[in-house]
Amino acid sequence: MPIPKTAPSPASTESPYDWMAKALQTIHRAHWHRSPQILSGRPGAVVERDGRTLINFASNDYLGLAGDDRLMAAAIEAIQTDGTGSTGSRLITGQRALHRELEQAIAQLKQTEDAIVFSSGYLANLGTIAALVGPRDLILNDAYNHSSLLAGAKLSGATVVDYRHGDLQDLGDRLQSHRSHYRRCLILTDTVFSMDGDLAPLPEILDLAEAFSAMVLVDEAHGTGVFGATGAGCVEALGCSGRSLIQMGTLSKALGSLGGYVAGSATLVDFLRNRAASWIYTTGLSPADTAAALAAIRIVNQEPDRRAALWHNTRSLRQALQDWLATQPAELTQGDHAYRLLPSESPILCLQVPNPATVSQLGRSLTEAGLWVGAIRPPTVPTSRLRLTLMATHQPEHLTQLMAALRSAIPPGA
Ligand code: PMP
Repeated sequence: MPIPKTAPSPASTESPYDWMAKALQTIHRAHWHRSPQILSGRPGAVVERDGRTLINFASNDYLGLAGDDRLMAAAIEAIQTDGTGSTGSRLITGQRALHRELEQAIAQLKQTEDAIVFSSGYLANLGTIAALVGPRDLILNDAYNHSSLLAGAKLSGATVVDYRHGDLQDLGDRLQSHRSHYRRCLILTDTVFSMDGDLAPLPEILDLAEAFSAMVLVDEAHGTGVFGATGAGCVEALGCSGRSLIQMGTLSKALGSLGGYVAGSATLVDFLRNRAASWIYTTGLSPADTAAALAAIRIVNQEPDRRAALWHNTRSLRQALQDWLATQPAELTQGDHAYRLLPSESPILCLQVPNPATVSQLGRSLTEAGLWVGAIRPPTVPTSRLRLTLMATHQPEHLTQLMAALRSAIPPGA
């Protein structure tokens, strides 16, 4: 179409892209601007970040597999036999035997009929939720769920109702008042909440779902490889294997690779292959990522000692933090925003800190002391906190060094 001579133009000479710089200024003013730091060398309990060696308490690599020789060898071999890229949608350009091997290994780990792998956990949530429900349906969403669950919920067009974090009474009340007005109902919950480290009351959620004829999708991103006698996740640890539910997760945390998955009935998986847009219209997982994840699942099966080491480290650090807090004066440790260990049942331990400025300052002091710890502030979380994630490959001296640094950094300026 020719450009009309009288095309309406704003009075100013602003470009239609100028708003972005202004938005960035606002982000800077709120001290919210972030950019990733550069790592070199293998991932692990000790990393090189921007030229400094840091003990890493900010990783999701719970089992220390992302830098494991066996995963790397499997990825290299897959590249040599299958190439670097999957070249297109698996439905259009075909899939590799490795894709199905991985899906079957996930299904076996999860004790489900089948599984499907997506290019990331985020995409698994988007595609699965939007395929399961639509505008005539209801989603009940734990208020602390990961953003990918909420993004999938919004994408689906279903009515989304938040329930209070982990609150069964609130979930039950909302099912009672809303369920009958909708065709299908889907309850969404993380199993391990990533910014607090606490667990969802899964058996009770499943009981409520049965009573109200609702589907349940659990996000096992932080549970897989970490929880359960065989490492299958919280579903196993909380005695819910075999119950009707949809289990999603990621291959990028304890499994040290990249990708996401959904495990469940053969019908569910076949349905997703035909309806999940984020699987159908995207390129299949690369051979290297697929092979690395498969090697990781074999290690999860064969090396329960890794899980045991992770839990040993978790218990040791939790105890050390509790012992230290017990020696602190009451004015530091009492009150809503005081220094306090948040209730956690996972290798994610969060030390609440009085305010955002303090947590940022503590994050910097810890870096100076050679430690990498997440400094998380509102609005990502309700209260500021240092977020510490344990790995199976942390050594006792790593924990000792962390505790020494915390002792000298808290209270700041003391
Ligand atoms: N769910 C949860 C609970 C997560 O923590 C994450 C990753 N931060 C995801 C989903 C997304 O997984 P991925 O990184 O594989 O996209």
